[in-house]
Amino acid sequence: MQAQPEASHFVDGRYLEDAAGAVMESRYPATDAVIARLHAATPAVIEAALAAAARAQADWAAWKPVERGRVLLRAAALLRERNAELAELETLDTGKPISETLVADAASGADCLEFFGGLAAALTGEAIPLGAGDFAYTLREPLGVCVGIGAWNYPIQIACWKAAPALACGNAMVFKPSELTPLTALRLAAVLVEAGAPPGVFSVVQGAGDVGAALVADARVAKVSLTGSVETGRKVYAAAAAGLKPATMELGGKSPLIVFDDADLEDAVGGAMLGNFYSAGQVCSNGTRVFVQKGIRARFLARLAARTRAIRLGDPLDADTQMGPLISAGQRDRVLGYIDGALAEGARLLTGGRAWGNAGWFVEPTVFDGVTDAMKVAREEVFGPVMSVLGFSEEDEVVARANATPFGLAAGVFTRDIARAHRVVARLQAGTCWINSYNLTPVEMPFGGVKASGFGRENGRAAVEAWSRLKAVHVGMGPVDAPF
Ligand code: NAD
Repeated sequence: MQAQPEASHFVDGRYLEDAAGAVMESRYPATDAVIARLHAATPAVIEAALAAAARAQADWAAWKPVERGRVLLRAAALLRERNAELAELETLDTGKPISETLVADAASGADCLEFFGGLAAALTGEAIPLGAGDFAYTLREPLGVCVGIGAWNYPIQIACWKAAPALACGNAMVFKPSELTPLTALRLAAVLVEAGAPPGVFSVVQGAGDVGAALVADARVAKVSLTGSVETGRKVYAAAAAGLKPATMELGGKSPLIVFDDADLEDAVGGAMLGNFYSAGQVCSNGTRVFVQKGIRARFLARLAARTRAIRLGDPLDADTQMGPLISAGQRDRVLGYIDGALAEGARLLTGGRAWGNAGWFVEPTVFDGVTDAMKVAREEVFGPVMSVLGFSEEDEVVARANATPFGLAAGVFTRDIARAHRVVARLQAGTCWINSYNLTPVEMPFGGVKASGFGRENGRAAVEAWSRLKAVHVGMGPVDAPF
């Protein structure tokens, strides 16, 4: 199984290699087979990418917005044409099942390119009347050279969620994928050039945190957008702050999903499973604290156990597989450590709980019942297929417990009581909420967190704020009234 790219980096409109960079291996998490060998970016590669971005950006920003949009729309069409091939590559790089990568990864990236491609020509300022003929107006300007840094769970989607709005606003971007999943962002870079983006407008450089840190610190960089853990977020935000650069932080979570007694049972169980087992639980917005009201709890647990036991683990390239492995041996061991910890703290294992298979980094979909707020598994992000079910009695109680976390990425509520749904959502400290659904992130809807889960929004019109700034222009129409 091979997925060797033409070269490690894509800089200034073409693939670029520098064998002096440290060797990076991309491994298929289902077998641990090496599928590609790359080199981390050397200072020379980083310099080439930033210099090209700085040069290309001014020209790109001067393009007619509708033409910038057209490039993004063409790129979206190319992603869709190549969806099957890109899905396979994403499966090899991440281990996510092909049943997911065919519908969620490049396809959602294409949605994003279409949304911001369409929006590019509609990004305008406003005129502000000031009386006596005076007025002011605002111009929406690009920020300049931007840096995007990605996590490993949704490689091409994250690259598109950052690149599409950034480019639509007239910025250039240097993107660094996660060192664990370097492959599909390179394809996006090539597709953008094929779609007509000038060389240098979107470059991809590989490497670990040190390469990311070098990009963030560079004086030419005007903006940083990170998708990653809270720990990395603190470092990247601090480095951005040193240069007084605006930042967007899409970080981790420990999101609550609240199931009231009157919820539709199958929908609530399905929502909880979607919010814990998709991508083998490696989703930042997962509702990993499932609060279930006492009247529905027994029925909920019975259906949840039955449906969870039926999940098909296996070869991610097999169309029937529903759950693949975790990204790495380290992540598998981390997740098993949380499972052991939950058992030691007295949580009741409903199903799962073990590593699975003879090869690869699989963990069985796991459900714990009887989890308390104080247990580590209920406080820390596991990033694996581990659901914690907690009981509750009253609305006020569950809202307080749901909010008692440093995180605030997402939250969900299942109830048939429409007034309660909106009342509870209004009180939840989370950037993204779902009522009677979970983990759906259509591009039309802003996405992002509060508290330690980060700030700034991706997707929707709101993302424009993250990738542009306003210039205000006051226009004097009469004589200048100076007191001197
Ligand atoms: P990570 O924090 O380990 O790495 C994220 C990226 O940051 C990688 O590309 C890494 O190389 C880079 N990086 C590390 N140190 C850096 C530094 N000092 N300077 C610049 N860049 C640096 O995260 P991960 O393990 O790849 O991903 C999992 C985490 O990401 C989870 O916590 C998950 O919740 C979060 N996540 C959040 C979202 C969201 O949208 N909120 C989406 C996906 C994943």
